[in-house]
Amino acid sequence: VPRLVLLPDAIADAQGTRPGHALLLDLDGRALTVLGAGPREHVSAPDAATVRLPDRLLIPGLVNAHAHLDLTALGPTPYDRDAGFHAWLDHVRAARETLDAPASVAEGVRRSLGGGVVALADIAGSDLTASIQLLRDSPLDAVVFAELFGLGERQSAALTRVASIADAFDPDARVRLGLQPHAPYSAGPTVYAAVALHARERGLPVSTHLAESRAERTLVAAAEGPLRGLLESLGLWTPEAAAHFGRHPSPVRALADDLPGAGWILAHVNDCADEDLPLLAEAGATVAYCPRASAYFHHPEDLGPHRFRDMLDAGVNVALGTDSVLNLPPDQADRLSPLDDARLLHRTTGAGDVLLPMLTTRGARALRLDEARFRFDPGPLAGLVAIDLSGTDPALDPWTRALRSDAPPEPLFPAPTRDAPAALQRLAARPDA
Ligand SMILES: [Zn+2]
Repeated sequence: VPRLVLLPDAIADAQGTRPGHALLLDLDGRALTVLGAGPREHVSAPDAATVRLPDRLLIPGLVNAHAHLDLTALGPTPYDRDAGFHAWLDHVRAARETLDAPASVAEGVRRSLGGGVVALADIAGSDLTASIQLLRDSPLDAVVFAELFGLGERQSAALTRVASIADAFDPDARVRLGLQPHAPYSAGPTVYAAVALHARERGLPVSTHLAESRAERTLVAAAEGPLRGLLESLGLWTPEAAAHFGRHPSPVRALADDLPGAGWILAHVNDCADEDLPLLAEAGATVAYCPRASAYFHHPEDLGPHRFRDMLDAGVNVALGTDSVLNLPPDQADRLSPLDDARLLHRTTGAGDVLLPMLTTRGARALRLDEARFRFDPGPLAGLVAIDLSGTDPALDPWTRALRSDAPPEPLFPAPTRDAPAALQRLAARPDA
């Protein structure tokens, strides 16, 4: 059944929510194409199968702008605020040693597809080759970022790695390589500059963790605080490394020379001064905001509420990310879905329509994918997700109901694996009369 008409309660994409609208789709093997979208009475085709989807809202496939699939097997891990970030990092480093990285990435792919995700930015901290291969075998669009560490005199080893990854970069691959200096407290300015150069000259996707915590600002601005203690304890606080710090007022401004024109995906930016906003906007950077990760580490209590609305108002592209499974509530960890981050933001800030592009087109822009594939425009569609609205207040608009629901997203397309039929194919095989 190649053509079908879907009749949900409503459809919603980055352009807004449309109650009573239907979709006319062409489902040809692994490709899904929107032929039409509009009020039910106007959407039909003589040879199309009709599928009713009562109590369902349909949205395009989601983009996860910041994930660590290789940590999936570690599972949700409580954060002990009194023991602090250092103890948490020690735990992760030790647990990672015992990890079967390929199996963990495969599980991350499964939970991403289960979360309605069709494209993601994955930080491959364990086994870059395995991550690339597993994502190539999956239906996901992805950028796999090689994680780079190195301060002071240790930067030269990172630069060698930068060069070899840049050599292997294929801009036309469905799963592309990218470069990710880990964070300003773990990668030095020479590494950031080299990565930015490859991004500008050859279009390599680039990402980093930036302005995540108050401790990061204390280190960058004053060369003091708990992150300095961490570096000292690891034997990394050498004179060369120490020379990077205490020179810039904020982590964002410490990268002022590296940000413009490189298309950075900046994970977190929980710490953002007024002076940082125009720099982020003019640089064309994306902030990959991970609300559940920020809450998990208690960053809003240290830094105030995240400034995603101010960023959007200033012209910064902001997309949503899940970060790793470690920071997810246990009852949400069987899926890796930024929809759950959007739901948290709705509960804590009342945000509504602004979250639809943050889950779809803004993430696509960050990954340099065609944004039209993440809207219900006529043409190819990257993915399709249903959300069960039953049990929510029918007086509210359908997207608000989806945000207030705890129902897991129901991925209709693509299929969970390359061999399996997509849920949409199963629906199409038994259409309504
Ligand atoms: Zn991260």
